[in-house]
Amino acid sequence: MSEKYDVIVIGGGPGGYVAAIRAAQLGYKTACIEKRINKQGDPALGGTCLNVGCIPSKALLDSSWKYHEAEEAFADHGIGVGKLNLDLDTMLQRKDKIVLQLTGGIAQLFKANKVDWLQGTGQLKANKQVVFKPLEGDEQTLEAENVVLAAGSVPIDIPVAEVDQQIIVDSTGALEFTSVPKKLGVIGAGVIGLELGSVWARLGSQVTVLEAVDTFLPAVDQQVAKEAMKQFTKQGLDIHLGARVTGSKKNKNSVRVTYTDGGGEQEETFDRLIVAVGRRPYTEGLLSQDAGVTLDERNFIYVDNQCRTDVPGVYAIGDLVRGPALAHKAIEEGVMVAEVIAGEHTQVNYDAVPGVIYTHPEVAWVGKTEEEVKESGEPYKTGVVPFAANGRALAAGESAGMVKFVVDEKSDRVLGMHVLGPQASELVQQGVISLEFGASIEDLQLMVFGHPSLSETVHEAALATDYKAIHVAQRRRKK
Ligand code: FAD
Ligand code: AMP
Repeated sequence: MSEKYDVIVIGGGPGGYVAAIRAAQLGYKTACIEKRINKQGDPALGGTCLNVGCIPSKALLDSSWKYHEAEEAFADHGIGVGKLNLDLDTMLQRKDKIVLQLTGGIAQLFKANKVDWLQGTGQLKANKQVVFKPLEGDEQTLEAENVVLAAGSVPIDIPVAEVDQQIIVDSTGALEFTSVPKKLGVIGAGVIGLELGSVWARLGSQVTVLEAVDTFLPAVDQQVAKEAMKQFTKQGLDIHLGARVTGSKKNKNSVRVTYTDGGGEQEETFDRLIVAVGRRPYTEGLLSQDAGVTLDERNFIYVDNQCRTDVPGVYAIGDLVRGPALAHKAIEEGVMVAEVIAGEHTQVNYDAVPGVIYTHPEVAWVGKTEEEVKESGEPYKTGVVPFAANGRALAAGESAGMVKFVVDEKSDRVLGMHVLGPQASELVQQGVISLEFGASIEDLQLMVFGHPSLSETVHEAALATDYKAIHVAQRRRKK
C-alpha cells in the first residue's frame, strides 16, 4: 500500500529542504527524498550548496585569505609572524567540520518540524505518484497532493577535458586537493572558476584561467568587471580571455592543455586542471516517461513565475529551473511554492536577486547594469565612488574597488547597484532593499550612514549620481 503525503519534495538542497520545512510549518504532512551520500559515507541533507558548493568553498576562501594576509598584509600592520606554515590537512578538515555541522543541523530541523527524510532516490510518475527507491531496501510508490522537484544541478562535462577527480577535477574535486598544485589551470572564468582559482592562488599555486569568451564577466556591469579583472590580475591570476580549450592530454602527474586564442593554437602544461564551465539541471532519473512535466530547450524544467510546472500540483524550483543558479534564489522559491500550496499570496522578486563572487575584493550586484539600461534607451544617471575615499576601508587596508549606482533619470528610482570591494556581499543588500522598496536615489542621499563604515561609500555613490559626493572631486553640473 502506498503512503500518502500532502507534500513530497524530491531533493534536499537549499531549495528542497527549505520548501519541506516551510510546508511542514504550514501544517502539511511532508517528506523530503534525498539520495546524497557525503564523503564520510553517510546520508546527508543540504544538497550541492552545503556539501560541495557555497559552504565548503567559502570555508576555503576564508582560510586561504587568512593565509594570504599573514603572508602579505600583516607586516604592513607591524605584525611579524616569522616563517609561515601551511597545514593543508587541517584547513580541509576545518572545512569538512563546518559542512557536517550545517548538514547535521538540517537533519535536526527536519526532526523538529516533523519532516520525514526519506533516504534514497525519488522519481515522479503520472498522477503525482513518486517512486521512492531507498538507499537500502525495496522500491515503493508514494502518493502526494503536491510534489516539489528540487533535484538541483551538476557540473557540465566537456569532452575536451574529461574529469577524473585526480588530475582533471570539477568544482567538487577542487575542494579536495591534498597538496597545493604548483601550476593550476582553470577552464572557465565564471563565478566558480574565479573563486576556486583564488583559493589555490592564495595558497601558492601559479594559476592560469582559460576563458572562451572575450568579455570578462559579461553579466556584470562592465565598469566593475574591468576593475575586477585588474585586481585579480594584480593578485596573480593569469586570466586569458578568448581562449577556448580544444583538448587535453594527461600524463602521470600533469595535463597538457591545448587551446586556441587570437594568436592561434597554444598549449600549456598544468599539475592540476579545474573544469568550471557551468552547471546543468540534474534531471537524470527524476522523471518517468509519463511524468508529464515539460522541459525547455536547455533541459530546465519549464515553470511559471510561481514555479508551477505544466502538471497541476507539481512544482519545480532552484537550479532545475530558469533564472540564476544561486542558493538564495532556490531558498526563496522553496518558501514560495510551500506558500502557493497553502493558497497564500507570495512571490519571488526576480528583479532583485543579488549576485556575488566571493573573490577578494568581492564582486556583488543587484538589478540592472549600465549596459542593460543604456540598451533600453531610457535616460539614466550613474554615480561611482571608489573605496579609496573611505576611511574605514583605508584603515582596514581594503581600499580597492568601488560602489556604482545606476538610476532612472526621470523617476530617480534605483535601477541597479554594483560593488567591487570589501564586504560587497553584505553591502549589496542595501541595493536589494532599495529595489524592493522602489527607493529613489534621493532616499539614499538623505539617509544617515554610520561613520566610519564601508556603507558610507554606498551613500557617497548615491550622492555622486547628482554630483553631490563630498569625498571625491566631481565635475559640477551647470545650473
Ligand atoms: P542542489 O543544492 O543541487 O540540491 C539538490 C539535491 O537533490 C542534491 O543533494 C541531490 O543529491 C538531490 N537529488 C537529485 N536528484 C534526486 C533524486 N532523483 N532523488 C533524490 N534526491 C535527488 N550559490 C550561492 O548562492 N552562493 C554561493 O556562494 C555559491 N557557491 C557555490 C560554489 C560551488 C563550488 C558550487 C558548485 C555552487 C555554488 N553555488 C552558490 C550554487 C548553489 O550551490 C546552487 O545554486 C544551489 O545548491 C541550488 O540549490 P538546489 O536546492 O536547487 O539544488
Ligand atoms: P559559469 O557558467 O558562470 O560558471 O562560467 C563558465 C565559463 O566557462 C563561461 O564563461 C564559458 O564561456 C567558459 N567555457 C565553456 N567552455 C569553455 C572552453 N572549452 N574553454 C574555455 N572556456 C570555456
